[in-house]
This record gives sequence, structure tokens and C-alpha cells, in this order.
Amino acid sequence: MKETDIRPADLIELSKKLYAEDIRKILVAKNDFVRVDCPACESAHSHFAFEKSGFSYERCVDCRTLYVSPRPTMEMLGEHYQTSLMYDYWSENIYPVSEDVRRKSIFAPRALRAVELCKQHGLNGGLILDIGAGFGTFLQEVDRIGFFEKCLAVEPTPKLAEACRKKGLFVLEELAENVKLDSPADVITNFELIEHLFRPVEFLEQCHRLLKPGGLLLLTTPNILGFDLLVLGAASDNIAAPNHINYFHPGSLRIIMKRAGFEVIETLTPGELDVDIVQNKIRAGEFQVTDQPFLQEILVERGDSIKREFQRFLAENQMSSHLWVVARRI
Ligand SMILES: [Zn+2]
Repeated sequence: MKETDIRPADLIELSKKLYAEDIRKILVAKNDFVRVDCPACESAHSHFAFEKSGFSYERCVDCRTLYVSPRPTMEMLGEHYQTSLMYDYWSENIYPVSEDVRRKSIFAPRALRAVELCKQHGLNGGLILDIGAGFGTFLQEVDRIGFFEKCLAVEPTPKLAEACRKKGLFVLEELAENVKLDSPADVITNFELIEHLFRPVEFLEQCHRLLKPGGLLLLTTPNILGFDLLVLGAASDNIAAPNHINYFHPGSLRIIMKRAGFEVIETLTPGELDVDIVQNKIRAGEFQVTDQPFLQEILVERGDSIKREFQRFLAENQMSSHLWVVARRI
């Protein structure tokens, strides 16, 4: 898989312009942004890390989580997602034209991995709840595997909820915090969600309420100690407030999970794109490694096979930026 397979270059250009407009709108209220403590460990002890596009990023001294503070309030974020030009563009344009390639390169492997992890950790089917189901492609692939008796999508955005229904999925069209279930879930999944939330621990506590004792929570989120984020730092496209405001890593996720009543039983970083993402930044002239001979050697001078080997090394050693967490409800 290549980065441009899932993020077509010409469409991304317009997306960046719309993102800049989204930022301009939310920064009007910058004086009302609120300071927060570390979203993972609640420590008030942090250092300023960098500023990007008008947002300040702090790094927790105790657990190394990176987070935006001061940050827009929960109400401001709600308004932002309702009116975001960039998200509207993705759901109207980018996702529909790239659904086939995304299904093949992202959602089908994701569904297989999720089911495999559930089996490995002793689950026997039951009810799976996917929170923030989007177009429902992941859940449709899970349904196809046939391991779970029931697949339920939680998707508050009307257009996306409709897309899920068209795929034949059961949909709860509401925000995660308002969801109530007749009987608790065996598994909850959410992909690339917690980095967006004003108070991620409250979301995890709600997952705890919706799960059976011993039930599993599977999620993905960027790993701030992963290769492309460590190398690119503020230059990474993934450093993207007000959309992404919390950046965890395997260790700090254990801390926030514990606070919400979960025990992390496995973390893995099966990312395939770290090397490709940094290479693309170099090719675009947006990032230089000429003063870093080791990176220059691997990313520029050497051929594809060493790059593949290096990517495999990152994935196998918890050093890719794409992080999976499996946690059990205590
Ligand atoms: Zn912390």
C-alpha cells in the first residue's frame, strides 16, 4: 500500500485549502480556548513542544503524551465538526471515489485483524459495536466474516448513518455518549477517534459502561513515538489541530485505559506507511534529511527492499505511527 492510494494527491490539495479555512474559523474564538492537563495521566506538569497553525502543543513531562492546550471547548469542537468544510469534502468526494481501494487496503485487513484479535483473546462472537462507523465499510467487512451474531454501527452524522443503513447495517444514529444498549456488547471498536476528543477518558468510560465484564475494546490511534511522527514532528500532516488534539503512545494508553477501568492486554503497530510518508515529504521539498546521514541513506540513497525491511522493523518493534490497542474491561 502507498500513501497516495488512500489519499489521492490532487484531491488532497483542495482538502488542505478547506482545512486552512476550518482553522481560520475556529481560531476566531482563540481567546476562549481552555487549558487542560495531560489527557492520559492528568499531570499538570508539561513543557511547550511547538506551535503549528495557531495551536500550541504541550508534552507531558510524566508520560510524554503530546496534546493541544489551550484547546477549543467541547461546544466549539461540536460546532467545528458540524460545519467543517474539509470533513464535508472528504465524505462527499474523497471517500466515495476511494472506497474500493480503501476497502481492499484498509477495511478488509482491519476487519480480519479485529476478528483474529477477538479470537486470540478468547471471544466467541456475540455483539460488536463500532463507534464512529463512518461509511460502514469496516463493519460490513466484519459482518461478511460471520464471526459476530450482530454488528451495530454508532454514527451520529446523518449522511454517514444513511450510508451504513444502505449497506444493510443496524445503525444507532447518535453520539456515543447518548448510546444505550438493551444488552451489553462483547466487543467495541473505534478507529482513529480518541485523538479527536476533548475528554478522551470520558469516552473510554462510556465504552466501559456499554461492554460486558471481560468484554474487549479495540481501537487505533496515532502513536506519537512512531517513526514518521518522531522524524517529522510538527511537519507531519498528522499534527492537525483542531481535529487531532491528543497524541498517545503504547505506554500512555495503558495509563488512560486503566483510569477508565480497562486493562491493556496487547498493543501492536502494524503500520505500513511510515517510510512512505516521510519519503513523500522529502520529495515534496517540505522536509529535509540532508543533515541526518542515517535517514538520508535509508530513505533517499537505498533501494526499495531496504525500505521495506526498515518498515517491517518499525512495525515489529512498536515504532510505527499506526497503533492498535486491545483492552479488556476489568
Ligand atoms: Zn501525562
